[in-house]
Amino acid sequence: MALEIDLVTLFPAMVAAPLAASIPGRIQEQGLAAVRVHDLRAWGLGRHRSVDDAPYGGGAGMILRPEPVAAALAALRRPDSTVILLDPAGEPFRQARAEDLATRPHLVLVCPRYEGVDDRIRGMVDLELSIGDYVLTGGELAALVVVDAVLRLLPGAIEAASLEDESFARGLLEYPQYTRPAMFAGQGVPDVLVSGDHGAVRRWRLRESIRRTFERRPELLAGRAWTAEEAQLLDEVRLAEAPGGASELPEGSAGSG
Ligand code: SAM
Repeated sequence: MALEIDLVTLFPAMVAAPLAASIPGRIQEQGLAAVRVHDLRAWGLGRHRSVDDAPYGGGAGMILRPEPVAAALAALRRPDSTVILLDPAGEPFRQARAEDLATRPHLVLVCPRYEGVDDRIRGMVDLELSIGDYVLTGGELAALVVVDAVLRLLPGAIEAASLEDESFARGLLEYPQYTRPAMFAGQGVPDVLVSGDHGAVRRWRLRESIRRTFERRPELLAGRAWTAEEAQLLDEVRLAEAPGGASELPEGSAGSG
């Protein structure tokens, strides 16, 4: 088994269906990964399996008590585990982290609810991840995002070539893609894509990746290592997009690769 994942939640049904469908489901059927979902209430306290309580100091909402979460971690953690807490204050989840997690043998994901978990749990996890600067009602959707992004990177999960050019894999957004029909809503497709010239297609795609990233996510370009060809294409894009060479890119970022 390449990767094992244990997911702890108060709402197992919420995560079961997305994990069983489509590519995540097929990856598990192929034996490339196993995802097990655990109900945190199994470690709840007392006859009512209680998991939450009011915040010390007062205030709105309920807080997940530390004991049930700690008990879940004690039951699930192994020497080779990476325990992840989903939390808005966590590390922003990015593709590089997904690639890193895809190489690990065992992930345990903890999905808090309510106003979050007692802070003393943070010292019991290896990593805190946030999927963005907004607040969800619980960690389940965030955990699904992380698991989905990781599963598709497992060797054999999807065609390796599909991963090579896609957004963020090389620090760039993906180039524009087209399929039939050749004319749609008055718009054709770029001539180069039907030219049969594979070299020209490759170079056009690289240039469009750079252009799209330059226009939409220029912060991704800063600090990136550039090949000579990429640096040349970046210069072309800069000239075309910002006459006079004005650019927010740091000087010297081009040509360092
Ligand atoms: N009171 C918390 C705060 O202000 O940071 C928000 C709690 S939120 C309503 C409940 C849970 O949803 C969080 O503890 C976390 O597990 C999950 N969650 C919400 N937004 C998230 C995000 N952007 N990334 C990861 N997890 C998130």
